[in-house]
Amino acid sequence: MAAKEIDVGSSSFSGGDPCPICLGPILQESYLDTCFHKFCFGCIKQWIKVVSSKVSKPLSSVKCPLCKTDNISIIYNFDGHSFDRHYVDPNVTNGFVLTKEQRYRLQCYYTESGLLADVFDVPRFWKLKKFLQPNRWLESWLRRELQALMQEEDVDIILHHLVGVMDSFCKRTEQRRKQETRSGEVFQEQFKSVVAEAARPFLMARTDRFVDELELFLASGLNMEAYDAVYKKRLDKNNSRENGVANEAREGEESTRTRATPNLFLFEEDSD
Ligand SMILES: [Zn+2]
Ligand SMILES: [Zn+2]
Repeated sequence: MAAKEIDVGSSSFSGGDPCPICLGPILQESYLDTCFHKFCFGCIKQWIKVVSSKVSKPLSSVKCPLCKTDNISIIYNFDGHSFDRHYVDPNVTNGFVLTKEQRYRLQCYYTESGLLADVFDVPRFWKLKKFLQPNRWLESWLRRELQALMQEEDVDIILHHLVGVMDSFCKRTEQRRKQETRSGEVFQEQFKSVVAEAARPFLMARTDRFVDELELFLASGLNMEAYDAVYKKRLDKNNSRENGVANEAREGEESTRTRATPNLFLFEEDSD
């Protein structure tokens, strides 16, 4: 964002105008990025949510409720030096747009764990110590997952951290191979807890599921494309079983909703 725009924002910072949405004093001051109209962060976020719910496709911009200018994000937490942005399009985060594959992978994380439990032989993977064989797709797979989960483009630090942790786990295992008595289950548990510990500061609540997905990918022995194909097939089957009938009903409903999109401007005329 250009510095000029920040200046415009800060010049109206001191104004005591009420929030045009709730008409109360502004809480957590925020601005639309193009017209710089000021709202409570909660109010304008809620506004975008309401407008978005009236259309069937995700919006990439929203018209300001005051001046009808198109804006693509809300600027908030502005402290004179830095600010945060909340994008109207849920797939855009700090300028980083998730790819189709990343969006699909995020969707996988919202399914129940164990969707593919019967497809790949995970216990065999551990029993045969297959994790000691290098997986040349691991880094690309990790990068995609981390970018999707963290919604950030630059995930190098955590990526290298995780790869390092896995490498040293494998090296330790190799070194004591001759006197090795640990079972497949013990390897599995130790490997997963080491990776989880390394990932948790970055992925927090999503850590355990991430480690399960990692295990599944490694146990599959497939490259990313082949793995995705298996996953997608199972996901589609699962989805169509769950809402086969509901889908048809929703389609009808959605076209009515789109047509009936009301004019949601709070004021018919500009109030500034
Ligand atoms: Zn408000
Ligand atoms: Zn405006």
